[in-house]
Amino acid sequence: MVKLKTEEEIAFIKESSLILGKALAEAAKILKPGITGLEIDKLIETFIKDQGAVPSFKNYRGFPFSICCSINEAVVHGFPTSSEIKDGDIVSVDCGVFLNGFHSDSAYTFAVGEVSSKVAKLMKVTKECLYRGIENAVAGKRVGDVGYAVQNYAESNGFSVVRELVGHGLGKELHEEPEVPNYGKRGNGSVLKANTVIAIEPMINLGKREVKTLKDGWTVVTRDGSPSAHYEHTVVVRNGKPEILTTFDFVENELKNNKDLTYI
Ligand code: MG
Ligand code: MG
Repeated sequence: MVKLKTEEEIAFIKESSLILGKALAEAAKILKPGITGLEIDKLIETFIKDQGAVPSFKNYRGFPFSICCSINEAVVHGFPTSSEIKDGDIVSVDCGVFLNGFHSDSAYTFAVGEVSSKVAKLMKVTKECLYRGIENAVAGKRVGDVGYAVQNYAESNGFSVVRELVGHGLGKELHEEPEVPNYGKRGNGSVLKANTVIAIEPMINLGKREVKTLKDGWTVVTRDGSPSAHYEHTVVVRNGKPEILTTFDFVENELKNNKDLTYI
């Protein structure tokens, strides 16, 4: 069942989302060739705890870290590791914050140093897919309208959409109903009601859409080894116009100041 949120609950999620936006900006401050995923995890975890909040992902179904750090062919759920990030890598940092009993969820893909024009286009299109999906998070539209908007834009740009992992409702739980696939048909699926809070999170591959899970039981990678990008916002379905609760403002301000990252 979809749990509609009260305005008070939405305000709590917005507060959590603000901390999350600032937490992701911590990654934008230190990301450069030579940095490891574990260092980013530690920094973000400390930041979240210093705000009096809790990292949503840590120990979620046994996940051992506060962020997912998915590099290049890793789509989502990557383990932060001690390997050094290299020039030309793309790094998706996905994180959640639990505050006042409510979760928020957001992800951003960073280009470290110079990336190829093809990969830059993948990132740009994936971020645009996110906003095209969000435009459809309006009361009276259907889940399939969100998925269609994402899929249509990704595929018309020559990229493919991961099917196995989807966006989701969230609130008191990190994952609630409804499921929000990044593919679908217009007018299909359940009707979106005002005050539904959902995470919209396109996962778009440069090559084929098939994925597999690594032996760690978590890290999802593309089968063909092609790069994959991922951006995510927590959004409230509203009448007329959706409301985005998470923010990339802090991330993008830091990104533009970090000469080791390319803003795409
Ligand atoms: Mg996420
Ligand atoms: Mg999510």
